Amino acid sequence: MSTVETSASEIPSDEIRDEYEQLTENVRKYRYAYYNEDAPLISDAEFDALYRRLEEIEALHPELVANDSPTQEVGGEVSAAFAPVEHLQRMYSLEDVFSLDELKAWLDRATASVANLGNGRKLRWLSEVKIDGLAVNLLYRNGELVRAATRGDGTTGEDITHNVLTIGDIPRKLTGSNFPAEVEIRGEIFIPTKDFLALNERMVEAGKAPFANPRNSAAGSLRQKDPKVTAERPLHMFVHGIGAREGLDAESQSDTYRLLSGWGLPTSPYFKVVDSYQDVLAFIEHYGEHRHDLLHEIDGIVVKVDDFGLQRALGHTSRVPRWSVAYKYPPEEVHTKLLDIRVNVGRTGRVTPYGVMEPVKVAGSTVEMATLHNQDVVKAKGVKIGDIVVLRKAGDVIPEIVGPVMALREAQDPPVRDFVMPTDCPSCGTPLAPGKEGDVDLRCPNAESCPAQLTERVAHLAGRGAFDIEALGYEAALALTRPAEPEQAPLTNEAGIFSLKPEDLADVRIRREKKTKGVPTGETELVPYFYTKGTAKKPSVPTANTKKLFEELQKAKAQPLWRVLVALSIRHVGPTASRALATAFGSMEAIRAASEEQLAHVDGVGPTIAAALKEWFAVDWHVGIVEAWEKAGVRMADEVDESTPRTLEGMTVVVTGTLPNFSRDEAKEAIIIRGGKASGSVSKNTSYVVAGENAGTKLDKAESLGLTVLDEDGFRRLLETGTA
Ligand code: NAD
Repeated sequence: MSTVETSASEIPSDEIRDEYEQLTENVRKYRYAYYNEDAPLISDAEFDALYRRLEEIEALHPELVANDSPTQEVGGEVSAAFAPVEHLQRMYSLEDVFSLDELKAWLDRATASVANLGNGRKLRWLSEVKIDGLAVNLLYRNGELVRAATRGDGTTGEDITHNVLTIGDIPRKLTGSNFPAEVEIRGEIFIPTKDFLALNERMVEAGKAPFANPRNSAAGSLRQKDPKVTAERPLHMFVHGIGAREGLDAESQSDTYRLLSGWGLPTSPYFKVVDSYQDVLAFIEHYGEHRHDLLHEIDGIVVKVDDFGLQRALGHTSRVPRWSVAYKYPPEEVHTKLLDIRVNVGRTGRVTPYGVMEPVKVAGSTVEMATLHNQDVVKAKGVKIGDIVVLRKAGDVIPEIVGPVMALREAQDPPVRDFVMPTDCPSCGTPLAPGKEGDVDLRCPNAESCPAQLTERVAHLAGRGAFDIEALGYEAALALTRPAEPEQAPLTNEAGIFSLKPEDLADVRIRREKKTKGVPTGETELVPYFYTKGTAKKPSVPTANTKKLFEELQKAKAQPLWRVLVALSIRHVGPTASRALATAFGSMEAIRAASEEQLAHVDGVGPTIAAALKEWFAVDWHVGIVEAWEKAGVRMADEVDESTPRTLEGMTVVVTGTLPNFSRDEAKEAIIIRGGKASGSVSKNTSYVVAGENAGTKLDKAESLGLTVLDEDGFRRLLETGTA
């Protein structure tokens, strides 16, 4: 959308009029798709931005506002598929705010309005979560459910009584006594987050379009012609208000919730009545952090004036109540184009499809790639290359492609196409095969010389948990194993890593985007990776990073045995098992010579890892790596450090939380070199628990088991003397 600069109260220019008209038309179109077809064409964040722009133009040019402007109406119409129903009392939408500043301003204004009323009633805020579902209006007469309707345009909704009767949460008859002669119960119907993915999988299996999000799935499931279909869907409801009422004795919204709950209606556990902006803020922060721990999706927090007398006095606009506001969290779901589905070959040869998308900002970061796990997941999600897809990134969680926006599929140019899982490895051409029978994941069996697997292994061996070679990041690993001219690759197997010499890297070039004065030109060029470019006057020499690489390689040769084991990329052998093996056997030779039983017997190893070790050492080229590294000077045995007394022999110590002067690794190391076992979980066999700042459930467990808990000083004493 192109926007034109606007300034207050001038006569609207033709451009503004055009923009306004276009916006009105688009907002109507998007609302229709969202409310009537349960299939949004754009993300909520995009819709909210359009809507805000519309409001902005109307605020500057009130003369443009027509009675039927989307800002004057509650979104949604009544579809011809359902009988229309007049609500006894109008249903409203909510005023949205998108920042804490706006929320503060809103609460301040409401506080001032209440003060102006001067009726002496106490202002308290009912804070509750904003359920991302579908509004419903239930009419109970003498305790019996007589009608259920959607919100529709706020005045008239759609009759969905038969469908609502299939929802277990909603009582046909209220329980208890003293219920009013007539009451409209307003609530939100939703599908629990945990049920949403399974429902979408079933939809795709049945050849139907998957839903874009749980809100649409709830709406789509409820607005079915056949109640039998609704009955199969995991629909639930929480109550969040009342409409017309006769003979209801309650002073406030929170009082009402208590009454409704007593009559068997489902009320939300996620609400609190508070007194100040600070308390509202704390509520927002709490649910911002725990947003994904709730039963259902939320898109914000609703703050309501709790007192009914004040609610009545503040009243409504044509669209929203003046006593309530919705604070929206930053969006976690956006729409973007799926440009391609490619496959990645991992360290152990697993071939994983992933989506490449038009870069888009979501939950605070820009995303352009997301894994699709395997070919079955691609199928289950129903996505095709070229689709507009719903991309979701919940907080710190890895971004996920939820599914396609089906309504836009037809319109894509070029037309969408199916993803076809390759049958051969995209890196080395070897036919792919399942790892084990019945495995969904396909693997490239050419572990030794598949360049893609080698790159991953080289990047892994340099990682922080292995040799810890900072100058050898992923890009350098690529340059060493898959440079622009493959015949120049200095490594064809990781055996050679420690015998590399600077001159081996002189001819390694990579392809990079060409830039003129820092600006990309759209062309690419071949540039040396490990050496400077060099000119006629200045010869090409190793870069500073290359020098660092050789220094770090030299240092890495003295790393302890467990790190060497991690670096070998043996299946299932991570840092914990490696430490256990190093402590138990002390040298690579002893580990190799040990029988499967002896290996399995080691605490922290077990039969799976023992079998993987035996399998690994039985392969010649694997043994070749160990031999080559040893020849290059890598230490293959831990020196027994006689200077450190083995004060913790036979003890198991758990470290949890953050200690002021020990990193987690240092604390572990200190325990292990004194003969103790550093464990990650607390049990009755734990000798001591060392707890730093922010120690969580492990500390609780330690206390409940009556174990001795030490701080850092206690830990130091323990290390020194063997007792606390
Ligand atoms: P809204 O969803 O922002 O807020 C009003 C609704 O919130 C109420 O009707 C009620 O059903 C619901 N609600 C949930 N929890 C509640 C609680 N605890 N208390 C009170 N009410 C609660 O308003 P709206 O007018 O229904 O719709 C606007 C929303 O729909 C926006 O988020 C917008 O992005 C989205 N939308 C998206 C598109 C699209 O194309 N993606 C189109 C139209 C609307």
